[in-house]
Amino acid sequence: MTQYVYRFGGGVSDGGKGDKNLLGGKGANLAEMASIGLPVPPGFTISTEMCATYYDEGEQFPQGLRDEVANGIAHIEQVTGKTFGDAADPLLVSVRSGARVSMPGMMDTVLNLGLNDQTVEGLAAASGDARFAWDSYRRFIQMYADVVLELDHGNFEEALEITKEDRGFYLDTELSADDLKALVDEYKSLVEEEWGKPFPQDVHDQLWGAVGAVFGSWQSERAKVYRRLNDIPASWGTAVNVQAMVFGNMGDTSATGVAFTRDPAKGDRAYYGEFLINAQGEDVVAGIRTPQYLTTAAREEAGAKPAAMEEAMPEVYGELAAVFDRLETHYRDMQDIEFTVERGKLWMLQTRSGKRTAKAALKIAVDMANEGLITRDEAILRVDPSALDQLLHPTLDPDATRDVLTKGLPASPGAASGTVVFDADTAERAAADGQSVILVRTETSPEDIHGMHAAKGILTARGGMTSHAAVVARGMGRPCVSGAGTLSIDAKAKVFRVGTREVKEGETITIDGATGEVMYGAVATIQPELSGDFGTLMEWADVIRRLKVRANAETPGDCSTAREFGAEGVGLCRTEHMFFDAARITAVRQMILASDEAGRRAALDKLLPEQRRDFAEILEVMAGLPVTIRLLDPPLHEFLPHEEAEFEEVATAAGVDIEVLKRRAAELHEFNPMLGHRGCRLGVTYPEIYEMQARAIFEAALDVAEKSGDAPIPEVMIPLVATKRELDLMKAVVDKAAETVFTERGKRIEYLVGTMIELPRAALRAGEIAEAGEFFSFGTNDLTQTTLGVSRDDASRFLGAYVEQGIYARDPFVTLDIEGVGELVKMAAERGRATRPDIKLGICGEHGGDPASIAFCEEVGLDYVSASPYRVPIARLAAAQAALRARG
Ligand code: ADP
Ligand code: MG
Ligand code: MG
Repeated sequence: MTQYVYRFGGGVSDGGKGDKNLLGGKGANLAEMASIGLPVPPGFTISTEMCATYYDEGEQFPQGLRDEVANGIAHIEQVTGKTFGDAADPLLVSVRSGARVSMPGMMDTVLNLGLNDQTVEGLAAASGDARFAWDSYRRFIQMYADVVLELDHGNFEEALEITKEDRGFYLDTELSADDLKALVDEYKSLVEEEWGKPFPQDVHDQLWGAVGAVFGSWQSERAKVYRRLNDIPASWGTAVNVQAMVFGNMGDTSATGVAFTRDPAKGDRAYYGEFLINAQGEDVVAGIRTPQYLTTAAREEAGAKPAAMEEAMPEVYGELAAVFDRLETHYRDMQDIEFTVERGKLWMLQTRSGKRTAKAALKIAVDMANEGLITRDEAILRVDPSALDQLLHPTLDPDATRDVLTKGLPASPGAASGTVVFDADTAERAAADGQSVILVRTETSPEDIHGMHAAKGILTARGGMTSHAAVVARGMGRPCVSGAGTLSIDAKAKVFRVGTREVKEGETITIDGATGEVMYGAVATIQPELSGDFGTLMEWADVIRRLKVRANAETPGDCSTAREFGAEGVGLCRTEHMFFDAARITAVRQMILASDEAGRRAALDKLLPEQRRDFAEILEVMAGLPVTIRLLDPPLHEFLPHEEAEFEEVATAAGVDIEVLKRRAAELHEFNPMLGHRGCRLGVTYPEIYEMQARAIFEAALDVAEKSGDAPIPEVMIPLVATKRELDLMKAVVDKAAETVFTERGKRIEYLVGTMIELPRAALRAGEIAEAGEFFSFGTNDLTQTTLGVSRDDASRFLGAYVEQGIYARDPFVTLDIEGVGELVKMAAERGRATRPDIKLGICGEHGGDPASIAFCEEVGLDYVSASPYRVPIARLAAAQAALRARG
């Protein structure tokens, strides 16, 4: 029989950290902490497998589970010496969801479960603190009503606010036992009114209600959205954790807090966190009261007054610090921790590898390797290559003028400008329209996830450094300023105020997540300086990786950015943009519209010196490195004139009648230009175009070799080849141009001629194409279009549905379709190598910068990947990770 319940605490651990799939992250780590002797309140985990069974059985619990849960409760009772539902000294539990990966969108935790009209009296007597008992009961009803019964929580909050106002209080903690008792009565009537039944008094009904709600939340809309955004399969399911309560709200020797073993924003080796005295778990995250710092150093740095935990509770703080070190050594990673202190005793409630910014991820990986906690290989594997994107993008120019509106907490670094929006749906819509938006909220909740994802940055008026907004923003790599307390937001009127100033929806602001500043208008940005840790990790990665990394670059500026980021050559230099240049387009049009070769040559002669200069500039920046230059590729019609004035200009330049030109333009019209007169088909019909380009390349290369002494290595690439014969013809044109130039100059230079493999036929016939081609570059954008028969420009209308329904696991234009397009790549590589063992193989589609696709390139043994300049560092790291994983 399948086991569904796994116990932990009191010297028992049925599971451990290796059981995340079965017990969820929270459950597995609670069991692990218990097994290494840390103080964990006893409890049990209902496995993720139950989640699927629950749905299979029509949202019912099998009898077997009821028996196992009874045993689980008995375990907690035995360890705590209390009994669930006991009127004299009741056992209270929390019910917590917990998937494999932490997931906003799941049911919120219910605390203090097991309280009813009788047990609350028992709790008051046993604890000797009636205020505490009634506070716990009113919290319980409020949470249960909200997350299990799904009643409108606004009414409960209002009742609490009114009670506080009536008494003239500001904080919840000021309410007396009697105040709270009265509030409980009010809450119970609220439940009965809205739910139609009295608040459940049977503690077992309470428990099963909560367990069912956890499983139910797996299929909530919020959870589905989060799964879609994060590629989490629905089949994983969630676990449920039931755990004895410990109380941080038992007076001034009690507290609750959250902490990171290192700074999750900057990565510094310093304990980082917040706590609240006389409070329960959710209070810290929800931003109800402003939390206090953990360490004296952090408090002083922030210039805050209220005592740090280090000062207020030095002994427990010492224990906690020892636990931090223990956990970090044990897990060999930075941990994100929840704890509670009950009357001076420390309890651990959660640990997991902490989410961190890219900057922190780099620093922590490099530091831990230097500390000897992990190896360099592990350090390389610890940093998500895609997250480096955050570091490679511009930050605010320190010299730019700033109109600072206010300052909040620097919750997630990075700068962002955008128009203000006040709700998640508007954020999503505006982003879909291509707008940059800043989502401004009093505080965020899991319902806002889609809007946070769509926004360029997030600003909240409430909540600390570990608030929902801060944690989620850091995880997503969105800049965030939280707890900007002077901000008063009127979401209904779509306006926020700071002092005397007003900012309406649609106005632009800038936030700086590194300083917490909120500024009016857009502030100028500059390129970031890459930190020493970045360089160190890149060096380590470069030692490991086998794949070379090149860049797709077509201007001298792109080329120098690419070189700075460590590119080892250019994998794709497109030449068409050079034709679109305003100064040249008339000559290009003259060439296209010419009725004979002589006419074309006359136009090409004008273009030659321009092309030579283009190439010389690029080859100079890339001196000593290979540069793959693709000869003219796009459909001719893209260059055609449209306006009368454009026709006139060409007519004058060519000395031809305008009507003749127009007739010629009409002849060139194509129904399906992407599959029309383009690529090497241009070279086959008008070889003089490729001849001119080849001449420009070789003349430029010789000029640069003379000037710099470090000869560039041009690799001339023929696009859209389907047959060997096409490549033979085009190679002959290029070779002839090379020989002519070399003879004229009396100097030679090394060069290669190869082709782009971007048509299925070319992949199939790669064996014979390799007889002519000295290199293959997989043009996986077009190869994906032509293999799938999907136009990339028109795919957005249906591709989302395809990915949602699992037809393709990912967008095939972002991550290579390994089963289909990948199969062609693999086959072409093998066939090409069989003919020409030293053939150079690379990839130059968008996929060249995508980590998952890079892993595939490593597997099939390509020589290099080529990515856009900003993705070069990502590709370097991804290539190293691929090499490490391939070695196993
Ligand atoms: P989340 O995944 O949203 O953090 P958790 O289940 O970790 O949800 O719990 C929410 C809050 O309740 C946390 O602050 C946690 O420490 C607290 N909490 C959970 N279980 C207990 C318990 N048994 N005793 C005291 N506090 C608890
Ligand atoms: Mg929660
Ligand atoms: Mg938690």
